[in-house]
Amino acid sequence: MIDVLVIGGGNAALCAALMAREAGASVLLLEAAPREWRGGNSQHTRNLRCMHDAPQDVLVEAYPEEEYWQDLLKVTGGITNEHLARLVIRESSTCRDWMRKHGVNFQPPLSGALHVARTNAFFMGGGKALVNAYYRSAEALGVQIRYDTLVDSLELDNGRFVAARAGGERFTARACVLAAGGFESNREWLREAWGQNERGEWPADNFLIRGTRFNTGVLLKFMIDAGADAIGDPSQSHCVAIDARAPLYDGGICTRIDCVSLGVVVNRDAHRFYDEGEDFWPKRYAIWGRLTAMQPGQIAYSIIDSKAVGRFMPPVFPGVQADTLPELARKLGLDEARFTQTLSDYNAACRVGTFDHTQLDDCHTEGIQPAKTHWARPIDTPPYYGYALRPGITFTYLGLKVDDTAAVRFNDRPSDNLFVAGEMMAGNVLGKGYTAGVGMSIGTAFGRIAGTRAAASAQAQRANGAQREAA
Ligand SMILES: Cc1cc2nc3c(=O)[nH]c(=O)nc-3n(C[C@H](O)[C@H](O)[C@H](O)COP(=O)(O)OP(=O)(O)OC[C@H]3O[C@@H](n4cnc5c(N)ncnc54)[C@H](O)[C@@H]3O)c2cc1C
Repeated sequence: MIDVLVIGGGNAALCAALMAREAGASVLLLEAAPREWRGGNSQHTRNLRCMHDAPQDVLVEAYPEEEYWQDLLKVTGGITNEHLARLVIRESSTCRDWMRKHGVNFQPPLSGALHVARTNAFFMGGGKALVNAYYRSAEALGVQIRYDTLVDSLELDNGRFVAARAGGERFTARACVLAAGGFESNREWLREAWGQNERGEWPADNFLIRGTRFNTGVLLKFMIDAGADAIGDPSQSHCVAIDARAPLYDGGICTRIDCVSLGVVVNRDAHRFYDEGEDFWPKRYAIWGRLTAMQPGQIAYSIIDSKAVGRFMPPVFPGVQADTLPELARKLGLDEARFTQTLSDYNAACRVGTFDHTQLDDCHTEGIQPAKTHWARPIDTPPYYGYALRPGITFTYLGLKVDDTAAVRFNDRPSDNLFVAGEMMAGNVLGKGYTAGVGMSIGTAFGRIAGTRAAASAQAQRANGAQREAA
């Protein structure tokens, strides 16, 4: 019998598989995706948020534990478990040597990334290279890998793992790690979680999924129905505003629209609805998906003029371009009169001081609602550009409750051979909100813990078996 079965094929699963194998366990990893789509959302990532007390290779200055924790506390509004969050933070300061050992390389951020040279270590070649390196290392160490294997249920015995089922197949193992992602690709479940709004719309019908189509939450649902302790609100997720032309799945990072703070955003009725300059973009980008989801038709339009060009990471598709604002309104399908009124009200309200996009500058509006509190400059220099935005779901936060052993719990009792890591438990740390790079920190920390614990559980069972035979 296999010692450790790992279900999932992204960062958390691979970290677990590698750690279990290094601890001497035999390991089988089951990935729902075919080989060419392996790696889940992890294949789309770029970086990992890392604590460090002094400059470290690609990381400049320092990012101490307390600052990291305060950042998490702020974005989650306190809906986080401090003990587990601090565990993730500390692990992020020591995991990179181990990652390098398994072939992951790091590089400084490219310009135009979210100003994170101090806090985030970027993967050379992105998440795709990270995932490929881990698979190569896992194969070299003797981890068995099965693609195209979607596990749909488990056999459990009083909180203990017995076997996993994928279609007609049954996989037994001494211990198991669940790392099969959230339910962000399950459009039915998203629909149910978001419900119907006051306009009679089903907002989730207009969501796009930024990552893999394989995170359908089949196992998460199975586990919750089987009585595993759950945590998190099903409607909470990491959700950003992305180009409305992005594909339904796997658009990845290049469909994100990063010019919001340099211009204005209007809804389908050509009204502004939120302060575009509230704070630095890395601290605000993850609220714009939800803001867009609240608008009629779940659509919004980011509007800039030529002064903004070159100041943000260009998205993959060019914006809709026009020489006048009325022409831009027509091309975007917005009411021309309302749009030009909104823009001229905004332009007239701008109090321009010293524009500086690297600081919370003094360019702001006066006398309009909502205000734009920083980087407010009139939109008056053609050509003008507009990008239609849709909510882009990155990952959901509903997950299984854990303590620092990563054990799945039933009625608050930890299983001794079933563990969970990554998006399937990220909600323990992320009750809401997000700060860039923490998804990979959580998956790496808990993947490594889950793999180690699963190997130890398998070893203990083998030792008990040997003792019984000897007796
Ligand atoms: C576009 C994009 C950019 C991102 N950028 C970053 C970033 O730069 N930094 C960061 O920290 N985070 C980032 N994230 C978030 C990050 O991807 C996740 O936090 C992290 O990858 C989660 O890892 P995971 O292993 O839990 O899930 P995934 O990597 O999604 O892996 C889940 C795996 O489980 C498999 N699976 C699903 N269901 C089953 C089943 N029933 N049976 C078998 N296998 C199954 C899937 O095929 C997949 O391989 C980004 C996400 C996206 C979409």
